[in-house]
Amino acid sequence: MLQIKNLHAGINDKEILKGINLEIKAGEVHAIMGPNGSGKSTLSAVIAGKEEFEVTEGSVVLDNLDLADLAPEERAHKGIFLSFQYPVEIPGVTVTNFIKTAVNETRKANGLEELPAKNMLKLIREKADLLELDRKFLSRSLNEGFSGGEKKRNEIFQMAMLEPKLAILDETDSGLDIDALKVVANGVNKLKNKDNAVLLITHYQRLLDYVVPDFVHVLHNGKIVKSGGKELALELEKKGYDWLK
Ligand code: ADP
Ligand code: MG
Ligand code: MG
Repeated sequence: MLQIKNLHAGINDKEILKGINLEIKAGEVHAIMGPNGSGKSTLSAVIAGKEEFEVTEGSVVLDNLDLADLAPEERAHKGIFLSFQYPVEIPGVTVTNFIKTAVNETRKANGLEELPAKNMLKLIREKADLLELDRKFLSRSLNEGFSGGEKKRNEIFQMAMLEPKLAILDETDSGLDIDALKVVANGVNKLKNKDNAVLLITHYQRLLDYVVPDFVHVLHNGKIVKSGGKELALELEKKGYDWLK
């Protein structure tokens, strides 16, 4: 599904990613771990196409489509979803209106008609119930005054509505208490299937107790320095990152 080859990228002439190779197949969950500043968020931003980063070498290919020339919204339309480490607040735009627009724009970009209002409402309720989201939440302004846990839950709700091929969750677990962490993990577990893939970016091992990855990669100084199965995450929990530097 996603093939990253010899990816070099940076910002303002500073190289941050220094030759990343990564292949993600449909149905797989990959975790990227690594110390602060190793380039985890940069990698997710470059996959999503954030324009402040410059790709200087290598490629990112989604289902045989080279993403190099696609804008972030085009990548989103092709099925790449990136959660934010720090979701923005948008006063005056409700969760419902935001998601309606996002779903319909995605449909239009893929040659589909807008979802009739009735079906949209039904879908919103189904997904909210699946994620055990209080329906009152749907009429609130996007992220305004949301707790950390509510913001993350809302992102999982957006993911549920958009049904991306590849969901990238960048430190969706940071700052969550254990109950909120379980909600996020349950949501991800309910949404993953054989046709989609998940890239979990996390500094800590504990999220991986609940969403079990097929592969774990350690990023250090812009390179993947070690890859393994879920046991690698446990080893990192015990030994830290220093032995890999
Ligand atoms: P991580 O997510 O693993 O903590 P980041 O990808 O955020 O790492 O950062 C990797 C490196 O790139 C760090 O040294 C960071 O300071 C630098 N960096 C990230 N974003 C920018 C930016 N917008 N401008 C300058 N340097 C940046
Ligand atoms: Mg960081
Ligand atoms: Mg980061």
